[in-house]
Amino acid sequence: MTTIRGGCQCGGVRYEVTGDPIAAAMCFCTDCQAQSGSAFGMSLIVPKESFRLVKGATKSFTRPTESGSTVECAFCPDCGTRLFHLPAAKAERVNVKPGTLDDASHIRPMVAVWTRRKPDWVTIPEGLPQFERNPGSA
Ligand SMILES: [Zn+2]
Ligand SMILES: [Zn+2]
Repeated sequence: MTTIRGGCQCGGVRYEVTGDPIAAAMCFCTDCQAQSGSAFGMSLIVPKESFRLVKGATKSFTRPTESGSTVECAFCPDCGTRLFHLPAAKAERVNVKPGTLDDASHIRPMVAVWTRRKPDWVTIPEGLPQFERNPGSA
């Protein structure tokens, strides 16, 4: 079993993920754009039991999703780095923000969602399944 580690920018919160992720997605929805301050957000979707905090504690807030559910968004209380999301509709999963991994170079998206909000200067990797909206829940 492999273990990957990550944390926030100030180092106050650290986490690890053991085992294989379920999926990795790039998302162009307006919430991901606002959260990341960029053109898209990334999610590394892992089973809840494979994720654990190993240092510090997060704060969180809950926001509605476009599909009518909610998602709890967890961040470092000191530096504000967004670390993971807990979707109410998929309570068995944690959506880790893979940019917070110590080494995210091996994380490749398997799907692109909300492409109707994609800026036209972004090129999606060839062969990647694309969805205009989110095919599942947010
Ligand atoms: Zn921090
Ligand atoms: Zn999104």
